Amino acid sequence: MEIVPGVHSIPVGAGPFMGFFAPNVYLVVAREGALIDSGYGDEGSVSSRIDYVKGFEQFSLPYIVVTHAHPDHIGGAARIKKETGAKIVLHSAEARQALISADKVVEDGDTLALDGVRLEVIHTPGHSPGHVCIYLKDERILFSGDHVLGMGTTAMRPPEGDMARYIDSLRKLLDYDIQMICPGHGPPIREARRKLEELIQHRLEREEQVIGGLKQGKATLKELVADIYPELDSRLIEAARGQVLAHLMKLEREGKVSSLGTGEDARYIIN
Ligand SMILES: [Zn+2]
Repeated sequence: MEIVPGVHSIPVGAGPFMGFFAPNVYLVVAREGALIDSGYGDEGSVSSRIDYVKGFEQFSLPYIVVTHAHPDHIGGAARIKKETGAKIVLHSAEARQALISADKVVEDGDTLALDGVRLEVIHTPGHSPGHVCIYLKDERILFSGDHVLGMGTTAMRPPEGDMARYIDSLRKLLDYDIQMICPGHGPPIREARRKLEELIQHRLEREEQVIGGLKQGKATLKELVADIYPELDSRLIEAARGQVLAHLMKLEREGKVSSLGTGEDARYIIN
């Protein structure tokens, strides 16, 4: 499906995140093009992506640009590479930990120049250390991977997830002129600036809740999660723990909080 001229969204059906939560795979089409993320690697769904790419005449695919190395984004890359000859592109910090090796390693500010289109690499660490967003400058479109989602909140799983870097990476995007965000999950976002400001605000409010809980004497991760998310579905507890721990680690690094002990027993106090 062409969502704006030259940018297609290819449906990904399989895997644990079905329907609305399925990962998005985008295809940038000019004389040459690029796949942005590759979805899962299961045969059933990856072959439909290969068919989609091969459906264009007079078109070649030099790159599969992977925003980050989580399986719902990189899973299909090796198989699609085999069929198309495209190079797998990852940021250096992500290439170090990816299960699939990169053919081209990029850094913040690099440009991938293709015949008919230019892709700018923006390093946006936080959700993962080498997460990148891809910016189509002429079209003012940002492919945001899991850094900005079309719905819900980006997961933070320390130590991989880093809240301070995540918030800095959201602020970094405010400097770009963005007409539309194409996220890694969920529908496109038209009001990019407002979305970015909301996400920053949401994280800062959550941080205030963590500080508030600590001031009331809640000292362990378990107590803080129960305080901040009182009626949480048990399936979401792990995700909530990741978010709160990421805030605590940010506050500790900023010198606002100290921790005693490790793991489940770790206790946190306001400095
Ligand atoms: Zn992810």
